[in-house]
Amino acid sequence: MNVNTIINNLEAKHPGEKEYLQAVHEVLESIETIYNENPQYEAAKIIERLVEPDRILTFRVSWTDDEGQVHVNLGYRVHFNNAIGPYKGGLRLHPSVNLSILKFLGFEQTFKNALTTLPMGGAKGGSDFNPKGKSDAEIMRFCQAFMLELWRVIGPNTDVPAGDIGTGGREIGYLYGMYKKLQMENTGVLTGKGLNWGGSLIRPEATGFGATYFAKEMLAVNNDTFKGKTVTVSGFGNVAWGVALKVTELGGKVVTISGPDGYIYDEKGLDAEKIDYLLELRASNNDIVSPYADEFPEAKFIPGKKPWEVKCDIAMPSAIQNELNGEDAKKLIANGVQYAAEVSNMGCTPEAIEEFQKAGIPFAPGKAVNAGGVAVSGLEMSQNAMKLNWTTEEVDAKLHHIMSSIHEACIKYGTQSDGYINYVNGANIAGFIKVADAMLDQGII
Ligand code: NDP
Repeated sequence: MNVNTIINNLEAKHPGEKEYLQAVHEVLESIETIYNENPQYEAAKIIERLVEPDRILTFRVSWTDDEGQVHVNLGYRVHFNNAIGPYKGGLRLHPSVNLSILKFLGFEQTFKNALTTLPMGGAKGGSDFNPKGKSDAEIMRFCQAFMLELWRVIGPNTDVPAGDIGTGGREIGYLYGMYKKLQMENTGVLTGKGLNWGGSLIRPEATGFGATYFAKEMLAVNNDTFKGKTVTVSGFGNVAWGVALKVTELGGKVVTISGPDGYIYDEKGLDAEKIDYLLELRASNNDIVSPYADEFPEAKFIPGKKPWEVKCDIAMPSAIQNELNGEDAKKLIANGVQYAAEVSNMGCTPEAIEEFQKAGIPFAPGKAVNAGGVAVSGLEMSQNAMKLNWTTEEVDAKLHHIMSSIHEACIKYGTQSDGYINYVNGANIAGFIKVADAMLDQGII
């Protein structure tokens, strides 16, 4: 395999799909050596088959707002790879959604799901619909219209979607309601469901908690802990709040959260009361960042900036792809950052990753750090299939165990001869081997 040739060919076939090409490039660079050492992969054209999704469904979503105006959005579901289990991956509702973004997310999801040790393939979907500022009734009508198309290609043994940006418990409820009506079946076809209709305990917190457990393992390599550490976090969505809560519980101090319009710096750090306040604001569909600064006088709102200029020990980007670039990484390094754990999918640009690695700072990629979300989704699927519910302690212990195994896999495949743990290589190689070997076993399909 020659990485540049493959990327050039893909670029010619899929011009302008920059996020997708970026994600493929990163994985290919990590696996190049192992791929070329194992000619059976090349003989079965594993890479050429792995970089193209199995299929893509694109559809129109028509819905009516509260004033009776008709709107038309685009909906997508990308079935990327089901070598190790049913397709599985979230639904993103955000105006930036396009095929490049969903293909990058589906590709990443394939390896992430393999890392969890659970039987799940990779998928992603969503729409360019913007849930911000919409009423509950509008969200419901959109979700129902979206499901009118999506239901044809999902099912508990086929494809099990979940949440992502813009899709939380409320949206999953409306989507599930419509699926159930169309299919006349009460199966666990979505994860992130409400607790009294098939959901799992810990699922809402799982991505953030899992990310913090993974970061805890990164610290433990150096006999270090979160106690007394200053942590910068971006965003304040499904994922970031769980990070803030667990880091705080473990004795760390989260001093930032952010939105697209700027960030909050709270020198005293978030605590349970502040997190509850923010969650209430979020539930009411309101902007949260500037009201927080009005409510708590110790917090400052810094408009138009990102939190990476703040001095911290650990950086945990938790908002959106490419939110931390090379210049941001340089600032963090100059300010003494010791660890970077990417919680968002592809939250750091290749230049940022290079800066961290050059400086010898442990950097772990989203597909390893944020795998706790899909892992607990996998546990939700198991509970649905067995028709029983595990306790909080049981789910949390399994999540903890899965995050430790992912960390061990990264160490196994990513430790360099100089002792530096290259988590990017470790996660990519471990995920790749599992998926590629399953594809080999199943023949050319
Ligand atoms: P949410 O929509 O719940 O939250 C996203 C947060 O990021 C919001 O606070 C949003 O602010 C903020 N944000 C959006 N754009 C920007 C920007 N340009 N700059 C700064 N902040 C921004 O999404 P999730 O928490 O679900 O997802 C966050 C990341 O984690 C994504 O990369 C997602 O793919 C990944 N992830 C999510 C999982 C899950 O279980 N939900 C699982 C694994 C990964 P505002 O609301 O004001 O727009």
